[in-house]
Amino acid sequence: MNRRRIVVIEDEAPIRRGIMDMLRAAGYEPVEAADGAAGLDEGRRLGVDLILLDLRLPRMDGMEVLTELRRTHPNLPIIILTARGSEDDRVRGLKGGADDYVVKPFSARELLARVEAVMRRSPERPVPVRSLVAGGRQVDLERREIRQPDGQLVQLSEMEASILGHLAANNGRVVSRDELLSCVWGISSDALETRAVDMHITRLRGKLASPNDDETVDWVVTVRGKGYKLGPDVAANDSPPAEPAEK
Ligand code: CA
Repeated sequence: MNRRRIVVIEDEAPIRRGIMDMLRAAGYEPVEAADGAAGLDEGRRLGVDLILLDLRLPRMDGMEVLTELRRTHPNLPIIILTARGSEDDRVRGLKGGADDYVVKPFSARELLARVEAVMRRSPERPVPVRSLVAGGRQVDLERREIRQPDGQLVQLSEMEASILGHLAANNGRVVSRDELLSCVWGISSDALETRAVDMHITRLRGKLASPNDDETVDWVVTVRGKGYKLGPDVAANDSPPAEPAEK
């Protein structure tokens, strides 16, 4: 069963725990964050399906978290949690790109109805990917290993595996260097840093090819002026790679 992961960003502990309980009881996999900065970190991880975001938060304001997440994860469903009477927050949140809002205090029924409705509407949820296959090569993203056609194993760095994992999770969509930077490195971009992305991708491509390949597979495609995407011939799976046959 693919349990949907929901990040709950709320500084008031009793409210946060209440939401965690509601989500768990409904079969979701909730993850909690008690301030904006921690929430942004959790929200950027691979495999997050939805964010519940309080707008009044310590360490990093909820609006800032919203803006930052929208910039790097344009399709990630986000529901804001606002207090009764704070219409300004609601308007700011929706203008800032939130998909919906719920007004505190809310019942489990109301919260879950909103969560389910927003999830249904979001077409391009990132899909968690554990392995990739193309041209006789298998990549195990959890072990960070490439199994070459001759059975040899090549190790990927954490960065290389994260980049590949992020492209695979967003298969079919071009991922900008800025997005890779903030998802994989957790920092915002400048010219120098975006070159670092290119460098890691060059190294990654090198590991995924070998001079005696008959035909080369494009694992990572460069989209000029936009960024990168996963190659069209790469199959992404949410299960670990098949064990090699005994010889
Ligand atoms: Ca708050």
